[in-house]
Amino acid sequence: MKAFTYKSAKSEEEAVKALGAGALPLAGGTTLLNLMKERVVEPDVLVNLKSIKGFDRIEAVADGLRIGAGVTLASLLENPAVARQYPAIAQAVETVATPQIRNMATLGGNLCTRPPCWYFSHDLFACAKRGNANTCPAREGENEYAAIFANEGPCVAVHGSSVAPALVALGATVRIAGPSGAREIPLEKFFALPKDNVLKENVLGNNEIVTHISVGKPNAKSATYVVNHKESHDWPVGLASVALEMKGDTCASARVVLGAVAPVPWRSAKAEAALAGKKITAEVATAAAAAAAEGALPLSQNAYKIQTTKAAVRRAILVAATGKWS
Ligand SMILES: Cc1cc2nc3c(=O)[nH]c(=O)nc-3n(C[C@H](O)[C@H](O)[C@H](O)COP(=O)(O)OP(=O)(O)OC[C@H]3O[C@@H](n4cnc5c(N)ncnc54)[C@H](O)[C@@H]3O)c2cc1C
Repeated sequence: MKAFTYKSAKSEEEAVKALGAGALPLAGGTTLLNLMKERVVEPDVLVNLKSIKGFDRIEAVADGLRIGAGVTLASLLENPAVARQYPAIAQAVETVATPQIRNMATLGGNLCTRPPCWYFSHDLFACAKRGNANTCPAREGENEYAAIFANEGPCVAVHGSSVAPALVALGATVRIAGPSGAREIPLEKFFALPKDNVLKENVLGNNEIVTHISVGKPNAKSATYVVNHKESHDWPVGLASVALEMKGDTCASARVVLGAVAPVPWRSAKAEAALAGKKITAEVATAAAAAAAEGALPLSQNAYKIQTTKAAVRRAILVAATGKWS
């Protein structure tokens, strides 16, 4: 690993000031340190964010919860308000990696994580996302875990966060601090496609950090269903987060967001339309799942993701509606 300088920030202002050319923010390090060991990223300076006062706090606010970017995934999972009021979040977090990794990994780091792509994360390969090639080796190579939506750009890796789809489904916002102050944007608008900037996965500008994630009105009618390779700690091969707005036993509106299939959390307007105004039955859930897979463009080795996505969407809808897993 290349030698680097380590700075610990006590406030978001200090963190923003300490960032600059050649510097990167460090949270739990579960992604970043692996990439540094592989020399995929080689910062001169690491700015530790976990020392920021209050960065690891979950606060109840008038209209929901405000979650510090430094909250670990383990703390999020143990929080009773999250489990009760936003089951889609807890169900997603529970599937991330291993308990040891969740003890270190933060929510901010999860949303800013780098792609889980073996070409990107090993220094043996050159790729567009690393900025040392114009092409994507996965496109014609080992692409079984790659995207089936929005994969026409210069990189076919999927987004690495299992938690982001739940937060997007729940309409979360993200607060960003930078040299010119703070701004808050819908989380849905935080993620960026490779065709817009292949080197980044989000819209963070220079020296900007994520400070908080806010979720509004509790929604117990929300769920996340994850399809994994057996009981592994690896990234999912299918994931859907669903938030239903019910009026009596009819779904007034729904948000359906897919993970593991696109370079960003992938909102499915077609699945949402298939649910609106309907009573949630197994048939309606199956139709919405089929709608969610429409428009998928699999590569040579990942057509199976159409089926894993359909299964995740169907089951997430039924769990959200009934609270039952079978
Ligand atoms: C074996 C293994 C399995 C995994 N499985 C999964 C999985 O199933 N699902 C999943 O979602 N993830 C998975 N991960 C990925 C990873 O552990 C998580 O995404 C984790 O949440 C990253 O958080 P962190 O705090 O460790 O981030 P770090 O590693 O510290 O940082 C990650 C990136 O985000 C940037 N960053 C961190 N915090 C901020 C901030 N507040 N503002 C701006 N930039 C920031 C860093 O500069 C870095 O580029 C897995 C990792 C491993 C090693």
